[in-house]
Amino acid sequence: IKQIKVDASSQSEYNIIFKGIPSSPGISFGKAVIIKPEAIISPNLKIDSSLIEDEVKKFLSAREILITEFNDVINSVDINNKSVIAVLETNVFLVSDPLLEEAIISKIREGYSADSAIISEIDSQNQFLRSAKDHILREKSIELDQIKERLIAALRNQYMNYSLDSGSILVTQSLTPTDLIKLHESGLSGLITEVGGISSHTSILARSYEIPEVIGLTEATSYIPDGINIIIDGYSGTININPSEDEIEKYYELKSREQEHKKTLGALVKLPSETTDHHKIKIMANVDFPQDIAHAILVGAEGIGLVRTEHLILSKQQVPDEEEQFIWYNELAQRAYPNYVTIRAFDLGSDKYAEGITKHEANPALGFRGVRFLLQRKDIYAGQIKAILRASKNKNIKFMIPMITRLSEILATKALIEECKKELDALDIPYDNNMPVGIMIETPSAAIMSDILGRYVDFFSIGTNDLTQYTLAADRTNEMVAEIYDSFHPSVLRFIKIIADGASLNKIPVSICGEMAGHSAATLLLIGFGVNELSVSPSALLELKSRIRSTTISEARQLSKSILD
Ligand code: PEP
Ligand code: MG
Repeated sequence: IKQIKVDASSQSEYNIIFKGIPSSPGISFGKAVIIKPEAIISPNLKIDSSLIEDEVKKFLSAREILITEFNDVINSVDINNKSVIAVLETNVFLVSDPLLEEAIISKIREGYSADSAIISEIDSQNQFLRSAKDHILREKSIELDQIKERLIAALRNQYMNYSLDSGSILVTQSLTPTDLIKLHESGLSGLITEVGGISSHTSILARSYEIPEVIGLTEATSYIPDGINIIIDGYSGTININPSEDEIEKYYELKSREQEHKKTLGALVKLPSETTDHHKIKIMANVDFPQDIAHAILVGAEGIGLVRTEHLILSKQQVPDEEEQFIWYNELAQRAYPNYVTIRAFDLGSDKYAEGITKHEANPALGFRGVRFLLQRKDIYAGQIKAILRASKNKNIKFMIPMITRLSEILATKALIEECKKELDALDIPYDNNMPVGIMIETPSAAIMSDILGRYVDFFSIGTNDLTQYTLAADRTNEMVAEIYDSFHPSVLRFIKIIADGASLNKIPVSICGEMAGHSAATLLLIGFGVNELSVSPSALLELKSRIRSTTISEARQLSKSILD
């Protein structure tokens, strides 16, 4: 990574090129909008005395927002769910604590910004709780930390401008999937982050929204001046700051070639997805929202291989009730009909953090995520299953369980599905009694046991994003291990072959819905291993079809065999 300190005062005179890790393809021209991390997290940020009263107001309004939010959640929880209500009530109690309020306000009056005052006051109260022997006090410390972050988030919402000018290229330390969803709606045209991994959920979203992204550009927020013209090339990972006329022309030329290429791919939409010797490979789309299905079908998707339903929670930071979920799943099923839509249960946790729903953990990727969370929160799980069952009456929904490591998780889920069916029967609500139930294979344990797990499920879907992370012990969101995080490592390839064999032994279909499914170097290998279905972002679908249509299955099998050898 080439890094040169930029003198912002001589903006018009330089043209500098930075190189980061390309994470979402495409070319964009625009103006840089910088979000400096220090503005959000410094505990010592001093402000001008004329701003003190404004900061006090901001704090009080953030506190109000949070109290209202907590009370709204309390009102939406089933009144029988006493333990959840008790936790939420403690939160209201903590955030409304008058002593805390007084301490934060007096810190602001000493000349600190509202976020600095929140951080330093809550941290100092927490110092004693954190090391307490009593576990109840230690738990209170975790809750206080969460309150701190939620207060900062409430403040941030006031600071963070989600309505960017269209054509803005955001330069930030990192971005959560939720922030990206919100920014996408306001016409974000490019993204540069200091940290992150190409398989992080933010990067996956950037690709599916076709927002060019470059990651791993260390200290970009301090080098790139706010408001400067910038070209981001998500193919090569190049950032061109204050580009010259020649550079601009070169990139316009590249962009028009990109558009030409897309047009040639357009001719493939109606052609079948098969090899030249007529071996069919089903190609499907990964979508996040029902309105994305139209685009997927337009480019020839034969179904939806993955809906990450947790986006429903992440975009609102709360769990929608069963009715709201039903409307959403029903719309998915109707828009995809007669093709299947594979709805995955909420895969919260790890880098998909939902304020107040999931917890901060020391090792979130190895923690309370996916089915582990769901089986502890059966209220949330059952609500989702019932909503999905109700939407399944036209028999085109498949249900998928994320983060399986143990057979018991499959059995417990199936038992819960049966209970949900009984509840619907009692109300005379129709559903698909044979709704296929499948699992994500994305952990080494599930991969190695796939021949056995296959007896209990109707399909497998390989999550290569997590399978790579867990096999190679390399965080998918950490640019420092980006080279180690390699889906083409022989261990990952062996696992894929083992899973494909496990599926074939049990005569069930196996698809891949991780990012590897769309990788240009992977297509032959994967179909050669015996994978029958590939599910990719709609933007990658035609390119994938063109690769499938330019090989024979025997060529693919030969290649994957020699690679394994
Ligand atoms: C995966 O792990 O490959 C996958 C598709 O799931 P997610 O990216 O949502 O973790
Ligand atoms: Mg996964």
